[in-house]
Amino acid sequence: MVRVYHEDDADLSVLDGETISVIGYGNQGRAQALNMRDSRIKVIVGNIPDESFKRAKEDGFDAYTISEAAEKGSIIFILLPDEVQPKVFEEDIEPHLTLGKALVFAHGYNLHYGFLSPPKEVDVILLAPRMVGKFVRELYDKGTGAPVFFCAHQDFTGRAMERALALAKGIGATRVGAMEVTVAEETELDHFSEHFIAPVLSRAFILSYEVLTEMGYTPEAVLLELYASGEMGEVTKSMAVDGLVVQLPFHSKTSQYGQLTYADRVMSDDSKGLIRQIVREIQEGTFAREWQMEQRLGYPVFKKLLERAYQHPINEAERRLKEKIHIDI
Ligand code: NDP
Repeated sequence: MVRVYHEDDADLSVLDGETISVIGYGNQGRAQALNMRDSRIKVIVGNIPDESFKRAKEDGFDAYTISEAAEKGSIIFILLPDEVQPKVFEEDIEPHLTLGKALVFAHGYNLHYGFLSPPKEVDVILLAPRMVGKFVRELYDKGTGAPVFFCAHQDFTGRAMERALALAKGIGATRVGAMEVTVAEETELDHFSEHFIAPVLSRAFILSYEVLTEMGYTPEAVLLELYASGEMGEVTKSMAVDGLVVQLPFHSKTSQYGQLTYADRVMSDDSKGLIRQIVREIQEGTFAREWQMEQRLGYPVFKKLLERAYQHPINEAERRLKEKIHIDI
């Protein structure tokens, strides 16, 4: 049975006397640090000396090197890119992990696949917003929040759960709901979205663009219809707020009939075989091993795929469209 926690389940006072070190002042780091400070939690920042470091200072935080911040903090948020976490952890954070400190991760990747192993004498907490950092902040500012997957993954102090809940409250997540899941579930579901849902959408847009323009439709018109108007974003927002099916009546009857009657044709039940295969590759660590190898070799495939994506004529058509229509949603 799923457990979801709300404001009354969490007590910010359990963080009295704690110093939260946010390591990495990027997408998630900035948003979570600002939210926690606005929730009256003591927050400091650790970052390499770069633009993000300067921004933390400008935002009024005491900012330190990663090593100094790890030493000063009793609860350490590791909000660095996943691929750099193991090295930075080993060199700059682990030496400062004294008895009873807590580590907080916004994604379970390194824990789940064993690329990073925290010592036994600390709490390990997963606090993973289901939202990009920009909106973690904007929603908090509006008085609401982004939902999180969370858990007390390792409970050394006996207080890991109350610490996790207080932190979830601090970033605004309990305003909407903090869902307890395992690190495995968060990591694997996150990758599933990235390996199936996102590519289904982007591939559908690219192939549709290629065929429709080949068939004589105006490139800019195709883009505006497919995704560039932002309508698709609003529809998916409505799916979240109202429901996948409940939002159907917001479309015309013709649109509803078209959507329902073509659904099975464009993706039949046979696709479940591919879905199972993708999930197995995530569960067995096939993707994680491939990605590790890719990083070790200097990203050869990643670079090639990115280059191919940026060279696609859709980018030029987007530039032309943006000169004529200014979407602001
Ligand atoms: P970012 O890419 O925004 O980077 C975070 C910070 O790490 C930046 O300040 C960056 O500096 C710094 N950094 C980059 N490289 C290094 C390095 N080699 N050594 C030390 N510091 C470095 O990370 P995200 O916020 O996107 O991701 C942080 C965590 O949050 C990850 O675990 C991710 O999976 C998770 N997450 C991210 C989401 C998102 O919204 N992007 C959504 C949910 C979870 P600089 O700015 O100079 O690059």
